[in-house]
Amino acid sequence: QPITTDMETLTREVKKFATDKKLEIEMLQVREEYRREFLGNVSHELKTPLFTVQGYLSTLIDGAMDDKTVRKKYLKRAEKGVERLIYIVEDLDMITKLESGDLNLEFSEFDIVELVQNVFDLLEMKADKKKITLAFENYHIQPILVHGDKDKIQQVVENLIVNSIKYGKEGGLTEVAIVNLTKKKVLVRITDNGEGIEKQNIPRLFERFYRVNKSGSRAEGGSGLGLAIVKHIIEAHKEKIYVESEFGIGSEFSFTIEKARLRKPELNLEQIYN
Ligand code: ADP
Repeated sequence: QPITTDMETLTREVKKFATDKKLEIEMLQVREEYRREFLGNVSHELKTPLFTVQGYLSTLIDGAMDDKTVRKKYLKRAEKGVERLIYIVEDLDMITKLESGDLNLEFSEFDIVELVQNVFDLLEMKADKKKITLAFENYHIQPILVHGDKDKIQQVVENLIVNSIKYGKEGGLTEVAIVNLTKKKVLVRITDNGEGIEKQNIPRLFERFYRVNKSGSRAEGGSGLGLAIVKHIIEAHKEKIYVESEFGIGSEFSFTIEKARLRKPELNLEQIYN
């Protein structure tokens, strides 16, 4: 009975087509919702520093310009607002690239100890302002070669250490440990003795624009994107990120990274045959 079979196949295919279309429409709706939410968040993030800059400039124009010390103070504040805008736009740029899969990782082998040391040097002034010490847990640390995208891993380490300073306490300590995890992996761990995070907030930390304390984060110049960027980069490396924290005691963020493969020394044929 070929006709019935055909009818059955046809019905099945029509049904499948309808289900596929329905799924496709649902997916488009989810994406549209996501896009709307993202744009809403973005304009909200940009508004605060823009209004700050506008406020200082208007006050200057309205007469504050005549006083030399006030003028300098307000211009500096306006400059800070612009700096913040630049940070936010750079983070937005990065998260857009990461989320659209537009970012190709460039793998190489590099010394992770040296990379952390470079980040320490870069953030020394920021840490000094809060009298926070940046240090390795083991003082005399040997080079450790790893395999990954060096610039992206530097961004991860930078974001995590910046957070340890932002949410650290005056006179606090940020310690970095590089732990031999398995034959193939090392763990990079950043520990602070700062404000810590309450348990119920931990699951949402890596969402974009999520902050435990909105005004605190904004005052520190945060875009709310730092940890979302960190998570994307680590996942693009097919590695893992962990967080442990105790409210009022401190936090510990760690991620895994692949060790550089040890190559067999190349045989020098001339030496063998001579
Ligand atoms: P931002 O710091 O710009 O707000 P992040 O994505 O880097 O955004 O971090 C999200 C939130 O996680 C922060 O607002 C803060 O509440 C919390 N957080 C991140 N790192 C730490 C830390 N080391 N100690 C305490 N809280 C932290």
